[in-house]
Amino acid sequence: MNARTVKKIRVRFAPSPTGHWHVGGVRTALFNWLFTRRNGGAFVLRIEDTDAERSKKEYEIEIIEMLRWLGLDWDEGPDGAWVNGEWRGTSRGEYGPYRQSERIELYQKHLETLLRERRAYHCYCTKEELEAERQTLLSQGLPPKYGGHCRALKSPPPGKTPQVIRFAAPEVEVEFKDLIRGKVKFNTGLFGDFVIAKDVRTPLYNFAVVVDDHAMQISHVIRGEEHLSNTPKQILMQKALGFEEPTYAHLPLILAADRSKLSKRYAETSLLEYRERGFLPHALLNFLALLGWHPASDRELFTPNELIKEFDFSRIQKGGAVFDEEKLLWLNREHLRTLADETLAALLTPFLAREHIEAREPLLRRVVHIERERMKTLAAAAADTRFFFALPEYPASLLLQWQKTSPNDAARILRAVRERIAKVPEADFTPETLNRALAALVEEEGKGQVLWPLRAALSGKEGSPGPFDIAAALGPAESIRRISLALDKLASA
Ligand code: GLU
Repeated sequence: MNARTVKKIRVRFAPSPTGHWHVGGVRTALFNWLFTRRNGGAFVLRIEDTDAERSKKEYEIEIIEMLRWLGLDWDEGPDGAWVNGEWRGTSRGEYGPYRQSERIELYQKHLETLLRERRAYHCYCTKEELEAERQTLLSQGLPPKYGGHCRALKSPPPGKTPQVIRFAAPEVEVEFKDLIRGKVKFNTGLFGDFVIAKDVRTPLYNFAVVVDDHAMQISHVIRGEEHLSNTPKQILMQKALGFEEPTYAHLPLILAADRSKLSKRYAETSLLEYRERGFLPHALLNFLALLGWHPASDRELFTPNELIKEFDFSRIQKGGAVFDEEKLLWLNREHLRTLADETLAALLTPFLAREHIEAREPLLRRVVHIERERMKTLAAAAADTRFFFALPEYPASLLLQWQKTSPNDAARILRAVRERIAKVPEADFTPETLNRALAALVEEEGKGQVLWPLRAALSGKEGSPGPFDIAAALGPAESIRRISLALDKLASA
């Protein structure tokens, strides 16, 4: 066994808080988390906020809130860490995350080392000069890389100010082993001397990552395929600084259903939006785990703990993973079905509140029981069930849609229904008893003639569960009130 294989597993999730947190980033966090939770080791959260213009505190807060909502917990931060199940540090509970903006001195130290050793240099070329160089190269059919003009400067050119710091990139072949892709090779001659900082206190992404991955003793860098071309640059800097190379794993791209690159619509769909629509965190984790990874069996439904048990890099694909929202809906429905009525009721309550409905017991529990098999998302379930709590406005014509019943017939039937329902004792107000109480009337008048106007009167909607279920949930007083209301409507129709 070499030194690498016995090294403790430490991974990081390193989001840049420059926009709403979207599904691609969530999947990266999940795969890192699954890997450490399966193999032991530490999961580190590192907010990459060195770009002061684009980074926003509100996005950092969103990422942290969503990680907590999903249950993707991290293990340490600047204030301390969990060691063998015990917190060692100061502010227990509110630890972390690491923020690159709080670590500028560290990057500065390493930048100064590179500058001193002439592995990096100040570049004085202006934007205009660089653009002119680029155009010349392009017109000659050459790749537009920086020619290294300032690399050999012994002293600052008079009258010029330093613009950026560049890495003096050697022209070599960089090869690394990717856990998903196998051997990957890059010729660094194509890069030219790339920019690693604006100045010693303003490092760019590629440089700060290298310093932090080393300082945090990251053993595995697990991130999206879009970072693949950053890896050889980072390896060159690690070599220049004498750092050990972590193991890499680049996760497959996420594709739209037609296998095109995931559209902006989805790629930028924030997790927040999925929460707003009433997807369960466990359903989202289940769905995202299957975006590029598959279990040994055909099984698709997993809890987070089951995912941890099954997760393995050997079953992550290289090719793009298709984002299929239908599947997410299906998984959400399956996860909803596993919940107890009580839990579902608690989850549905805030969604009903958004519909301006104050969910009342015992009605809420009864509604959940009737609707649970049909629920796809909590937001849709709230929209579908609000009628139980507040009868919507509806036109009298809704009561007459069954084979164009006349208002007189519908009224006659509803009166007969009301009379029979009123005789059912409250303690016995169940779908079965109601069905029995109306059986003779249904027989006489026809099923649709009775059930349609009754269902419409109870729900005020074209589609809903059956009338006996609704009536049983509403109870006798409210059911009779709704039938009487329908009769009023018919009287003035
Ligand atoms: N901060 C980078 C991003 O949000 C990720 C860096 C990395 O994983 O190396 O895309």
